This record gives sequence, C-alpha cells and structure tokens, in this order.
Amino acid sequence: MRCPYCGADDTRVVDSRPAEGGSTIRRRRECEACHNRFTTYERREYALVVRKRDGSAEPFSPGKIVSGVSRAMVGRDVLPGSLEALVRTVEGFAEEHGPEVSSAEIGHRVLEALRELDEVAYLRFASVHKEFEHAVDFEREVAALEERT
Ligand SMILES: [Zn+2]
Repeated sequence: MRCPYCGADDTRVVDSRPAEGGSTIRRRRECEACHNRFTTYERREYALVVRKRDGSAEPFSPGKIVSGVSRAMVGRDVLPGSLEALVRTVEGFAEEHGPEVSSAEIGHRVLEALRELDEVAYLRFASVHKEFEHAVDFEREVAALEERT
C-alpha cells in the first residue's frame, strides 16, 4: 500500500479491526519513510450494479465516489473521516436499493451528503456531474450560498 503523503511503497499495518458489523476491515498503516499514518478499508466485492444514463452498466465502485468527491473537496477544510463516512452512507443506500441503482440516484445521494458536509464541495461536485436539471437551478444554488456568506 503506497503512502498517500510521500508515495513510498513501504507501509506497515499498526492496527487492524473489524468495522461496520464485520463487513469491513479497518487498518491503520504507518509509512516507514515519513512515519505518517493513514487508514485503509478492506471490503468484500460488490455485486451491485450502477446503470448509467446511456443505458450501460458498471459495478458499484466506492473508489469512484472517493475520487470524485476528493476532487470536489480539494482545499476544503473538512473533518478527517468525513469522506469515508459519506461513502459509507452512499454504499448503504445502494445496498438497500440494489442490486441495481442508477448513476443519477447515486449522484443525488452523494450531493445530499456533501451538502451537509461542505457547501463549496457540494457546488463543485454538482457542477462537474451536472446533477442539476437546468442551469438555472445551479445559479439559484450559488446565489443562495452567496447570500449566506
Ligand atoms: Zn510516507
């Protein structure tokens, strides 16, 4: 597992415990080079399928949500662990409504969770993923945000 701080390949597991009722293993790892610590989660593989707008399907991927949401969160000050919590929320939704969910539903859940977390990240994600039906909705959201700040 590569260190997210310095990119070194040598990291060791310092703690390992079951999470989420045993469906996940949470591991704390420490980088041998820079000694920073980070967390990884090991999960079973999903049988969940996401149906995209063009009709094609792909396996549900928490990693995709993580990368999309991480991009929206760049430079934002959010509590450690909030990204993981968001992904778990969306996963929970997908498992409840699976085995097939639409990409629009997933996007909607991500947006709902992001909105609670950070308004700027929420708007960035919304604009990138075009989850708003009309441009005017997006403009209304921006205006509403600016009024409050
Ligand atoms: Zn490192």
